[in-house]
Amino acid sequence: MVSGELRAGRLGPEERADTWKRLSGERFDLVVIGGGVVGCGVALDAATRGLRVALVEARDLASGTSSRSSKLFHGGLRYLEQLEFGLVREALAERELMLTRLAPHLVRPVSFLFPLTRRWWERPYVATGMTLYDTMGGARSVPRHKHLTRAGALRLVPALRRDALIGGIRYFDAQADDARHTLTVARTAAHYGAVVRTSTQVVGFCREADRVSGVRVRDCESGAETEIAAHVVVNATGVWTDELQRLSGERGRFRVRASKGVHIVVPRDRIVADSGLILRTPTSVLFVIPWRGHWIIGTTDTAWNLDLAHPSATRSDIDYILRNINRVLATPLTHDDIEGVYAGLRPLLAGESAETSKLSREHAVARVAPGMFAIAGGKYTTYRVMAADAVNAAAVDLPFRAQESITDKVPLLGADGYHALVNQADRLAARYRLHPYRVRHLLNRYGSLIHQVLALTDGRPDLRLPIAGAPDYLAVEAVYAASHEGALHLEDVLTRRMHVSIEYPHRGLDSARSVAELLAPVLDWDAETVEREIKVYAARVEAERDSQNQPSDDAADAIRSAAPDARPSVIEPVV
Ligand SMILES: Cc1cc2nc3c(=O)[nH]c(=O)nc-3n(C[C@H](O)[C@H](O)[C@H](O)COP(=O)(O)OP(=O)(O)OC[C@H]3O[C@@H](n4cnc5c(N)ncnc54)[C@H](O)[C@@H]3O)c2cc1C
Repeated sequence: MVSGELRAGRLGPEERADTWKRLSGERFDLVVIGGGVVGCGVALDAATRGLRVALVEARDLASGTSSRSSKLFHGGLRYLEQLEFGLVREALAERELMLTRLAPHLVRPVSFLFPLTRRWWERPYVATGMTLYDTMGGARSVPRHKHLTRAGALRLVPALRRDALIGGIRYFDAQADDARHTLTVARTAAHYGAVVRTSTQVVGFCREADRVSGVRVRDCESGAETEIAAHVVVNATGVWTDELQRLSGERGRFRVRASKGVHIVVPRDRIVADSGLILRTPTSVLFVIPWRGHWIIGTTDTAWNLDLAHPSATRSDIDYILRNINRVLATPLTHDDIEGVYAGLRPLLAGESAETSKLSREHAVARVAPGMFAIAGGKYTTYRVMAADAVNAAAVDLPFRAQESITDKVPLLGADGYHALVNQADRLAARYRLHPYRVRHLLNRYGSLIHQVLALTDGRPDLRLPIAGAPDYLAVEAVYAASHEGALHLEDVLTRRMHVSIEYPHRGLDSARSVAELLAPVLDWDAETVEREIKVYAARVEAERDSQNQPSDDAADAIRSAAPDARPSVIEPVV
């Protein structure tokens, strides 16, 4: 492999030092605020149109909502019921594009059973929706829906109580590791020339006459500040949109409110099933989603007005999920079955309705001031369309004509060659002395970037060993997270590059020291820093566990937000 391939889209310590100089020394066409999927999508869209782009993220890539979703690329059956046909069609087309061309290594089909509970009308009603769902997305690479009798449905999901259904319909959607997908969008943008920098918070806006002409940023590791000059600034900060608009001193064209959604994670053997589930709840739906050796179950939908960076799950949220899933399970789940819990905030465009679950998931783009745009709303699945809309809008403030969006033709890093490598998994396994199962696991996380990952183990066979306390992951994955994937703290690795924090009942504590020691040489940590990282991570886990025993959002938030931050220099809120 040539050295260029080894560096493709690399976000390591060397690049970090270099990007700080570039941010202050160059003039950009477009600067994007926010390293969630939308901001990373905007950076990729703009870079592949030939624009000079910078993307700054206050914390870690996907540290906001984009690592805390249900992890589905879906049209949203529920939106069909709300008659949002345009939204569903668009999302299904994106699902297909991800599965086939853009991210086949990261996105894969997932089966759901819709249990039917009412005689006569329900089957034709749901089947009409499913038929629409099957046909709306055009070409499709997931199977069509299928009707099941009660016995058939129970064979697919033996965990269900016999009296919980009278039949069922099976259908397919797609799923992805959201944090890893967002990271890969960011790295692909960097590969095409975007300057991507995390731990870099926008703390002010620069102006020339009546125009926004750039942003002032703070390095959240060192506290240093500098200015970035750009023709256009795009605010893609999700639930922080209003905060950034306040900081800019401009009146926003729309407002964004936060709705909290909680998921729990339980071991796969607690629910005997060969398919996920979608269940109706009194106000929304509940998903049971297969996630490697686990099930992810969620979600809730309640207004949230507290800490935006660390939304906390309460005992009541968890009880709500358990109550709803236990309505249909033959062997109920208990609190003791829970391996992990996470909470995220939906960035919803503020509308008339008081109930957040009825607010639209559609997105909006607005020119807030000359040289400044905001994009928000939507959902994960449609990030690419949102990004293209944002750059189309922003183009009016560029001093030249921008090219059309081409991201529907730009595979993400790791997609190229993925299918061939899957077929060659046994050969790769033999070469690196790994089990073929392990190689397939790596291919589904890194695609053809697996070569970059495994090259780090040349002469270091110890890096091919599993991580202490988290045997699903290899030591080399922690090293690669810091050397290539922009991870700067223990939390970045245990929570987003891997999901140890929700997949193991110890929530990462049993792995913290060994992972910190793997990161230390790459990130130049001394012994004191290693201890601080472990302490901060442990305090966070403890605060999350405590908050999950509290009855109310206020009580949970008070505990969670008192825990120290891995990035102490982040200003929160920024205004
Ligand atoms: C519980 C839940 C389940 C969901 N499930 C699904 C699903 O299954 N499928 C689906 O399609 N969608 C789903 N969604 C919606 C989807 O996750 C979101 O729409 C999407 O992730 C939002 O991405 P974003 O980039 O707009 O925001 P974010 O990911 O929150 O990114 C915003 C970023 O801006 C950064 N930022 C803030 N202030 C500053 C500053 N001053 N300077 C620099 N950076 C800053 C933040 O740190 C953050 O990383 C779900 C959402 C939730 C909450």
